[in-house]
Amino acid sequence: MANTIDSSAPVKHNWTVEEVNHLFALPFNDLMFKAQLAHRENFNPNEVQVSTLLSIKTGACPEDCKYCSQSARYKTDIDKERLMEVDKVLEAAAQAKAQGSTRFCMGAAWRNPKERDMPYVTDMVKGVKALGLETCMTLGMLSEDQASTLQEAGLDYYNHNLDTSPEHYNQIITTRSYQDRLDTLTNVRSAGMKVCSGGIVGLGEQANDRASLLTQLANLSPQPESVPINMLVKVDGTPLADVADLDEFDFIRCIAVARIMMPKSHVRLSAGREAMNEQMQAMCFLAGANSIFYGCKLLTAANPETNQDIALFKKLGINTETIDSSVDDSVEAATLRTKMSDQQNSDLFYNAAG
Ligand code: SF4
Repeated sequence: MANTIDSSAPVKHNWTVEEVNHLFALPFNDLMFKAQLAHRENFNPNEVQVSTLLSIKTGACPEDCKYCSQSARYKTDIDKERLMEVDKVLEAAAQAKAQGSTRFCMGAAWRNPKERDMPYVTDMVKGVKALGLETCMTLGMLSEDQASTLQEAGLDYYNHNLDTSPEHYNQIITTRSYQDRLDTLTNVRSAGMKVCSGGIVGLGEQANDRASLLTQLANLSPQPESVPINMLVKVDGTPLADVADLDEFDFIRCIAVARIMMPKSHVRLSAGREAMNEQMQAMCFLAGANSIFYGCKLLTAANPETNQDIALFKKLGINTETIDSSVDDSVEAATLRTKMSDQQNSDLFYNAAG
């Protein structure tokens, strides 16, 4: 396989699982080199987009995702919380902005939003947007009408993960189908919003499942603008609490292959980052990850403290990506470093019910 990537080539949407398995099977250094080529052709390699994720409604979810602490079907020690008040959400968003985030993601543990919830979530979108932040939500399945309503309120991104391969899917979730997920992504795209969709690895899947998941994502046309790659965070009480660990090199390979297949997408190092040391995270950035969540709890899994992230960015010479490219990155980075010295109380992010 040639060691070059033609960045002017159109993004490929007809990947086969076999082709993707070949990428996974490359010698590690060759794979990293290819991923770096793809990354550098499309992004500033020393820039990472930073989002903050807030749980606006926690726990008591009727779905049965076997990795999830928020499913009502498993006995986990999560504190269930009602839908957060709009003012509290906006307060948290203002704090996230002050700490350097450019995108504010709001997540609710729902199968899908009910009609009675829509006025509240649209007010959240409008309020966060008015603060000058990009807006993202993850609320479960969306109908066409709900997607349009959210888009009209100003929602930029909608997150809905495919989670795993179609082949492994029934081992992980039985309360909604793979097609349900694809339908929601279609509704989001048709409404004119950007798509954030990725998956989780370390769910006890086979290597072929990881290739199959990335094939599904990359063959979406257009590809998702944002692709979170999560490492399973094992939660006591869930069916996957004792699943075998995924080798960290397999995780890095996933990031690198995602970067090659979806060269223009932001690949997000998401859940599981808490358990990764600095060197592992640096390898993920080298493999092409260029987006993270920081500064608050990642829904219910711990996330490295903001100041640790800033310290790592400083060691690696990484700047944070800005929404407006006219804003000088060094100003943004300086803002982050200043904020590092006066970290504010982040309780807001941990007590979603207020
Ligand atoms: S992953 Fe989402 S849909 Fe599945 S149980 Fe958890 S909160 Fe519910």
